Amino acid sequence: MPRDSFGREIDYLRISLIDHCNLRCVYCMPLDGPALAPPADVLTAAEIETVARAALAAGFRKLRLTGGEPTLRADLLEIVARLARLPGLGDLTMTTNGVRLPALAAPLAAAGLRRVNIHLDSLDPRRLARIMRRGTLAEIWAGIEAAEAAGLCPIKLNVVVARGFNEEDVVPLAALTLERPWHVRFIETMPLGTGAVAALARGRLVPNTETRARIADVLGALAPVPSVERADEARNYRLPRARGVVGFISPVSEPYCADCNRMRLTADGRFHLCLLNDDELDVRGTLRAGGGPEAVTDILMRAVRFKPTGHRLDLGRSTERREMYQLGG
Ligand code: SAM
Ligand code: SF4
Repeated sequence: MPRDSFGREIDYLRISLIDHCNLRCVYCMPLDGPALAPPADVLTAAEIETVARAALAAGFRKLRLTGGEPTLRADLLEIVARLARLPGLGDLTMTTNGVRLPALAAPLAAAGLRRVNIHLDSLDPRRLARIMRRGTLAEIWAGIEAAEAAGLCPIKLNVVVARGFNEEDVVPLAALTLERPWHVRFIETMPLGTGAVAALARGRLVPNTETRARIADVLGALAPVPSVERADEARNYRLPRARGVVGFISPVSEPYCADCNRMRLTADGRFHLCLLNDDELDVRGTLRAGGGPEAVTDILMRAVRFKPTGHRLDLGRSTERREMYQLGG
């Protein structure tokens, strides 16, 4: 398994398929004028397959598709089918806002996708509309039901908690786990980039200690659940008599950089070494100059070697070149 210069085993590649999105979540993407990559720069299905093949041959085990919104990619089913049959694959998952899952969940499962994480910040249609600025709760809920019906389980819901937008909504969201075997995970806002979106993410932070206390006060004590995944970024708990799991992902208040096992590939073909740093290595140029899996492995191993120790949000530092919709979380 590839190891970085700090001895961390890096075996998880998150692949951003596209930087477009059909929503505009306030802490992720500007309403107007997002900096989208020119279409010619976006990796093709075949190029993504070459990178994934190289990563798995080098000892990576887990692939996750993300965006922007990965379901906007017209050739998504082809990409999933190409990746699902690669030797060495341990897990193939996707992070999505769920809006297009009613049409796509069953074909995605048939193509070889194993699970989805769906992003849902509130069960209140009006408050959700204020956060997402496009799309509706009904669409996302239909997407969650379609994913469950297609067997893309366990369903994991990602809730980003932003002060003044949804900090009270964490209780009904956590309560979903009482009746359903879902994982509902609460995520602290991370500031990426230098613009208004990052300023909002920085100013609206709700530490997960507060979210956890709010949930426990109403729904009862949270009992710790040991993680089954290696390097799980979530601290997991179960409410009394619950079927599902409540998780807390706290990159700001409790960084988990020491256990990081991730590498990221941007839609425009660069390895992004750490979510909250700007360091990148280009792979698109090599692919388009005719480089095969060995040349890609070479760049990937360099990217692993140069992974920074972690983020410095405590010193006010984050990315300058990329925002969240360009990296995929
Ligand atoms: N569009 C898909 C979605 O929303 O799930 C995939 C891409 S999105 C960037 C991936 C994850 O990042 C989502 O769960 C989203 O909630 C989360 N996210 C977006 N902006 C964030 C921020 N500023 N801080 C923390 N998480 C964020
Ligand atoms: Fe789109 Fe996901 Fe960002 Fe929301 S969090 S704007 S759904 S990419």
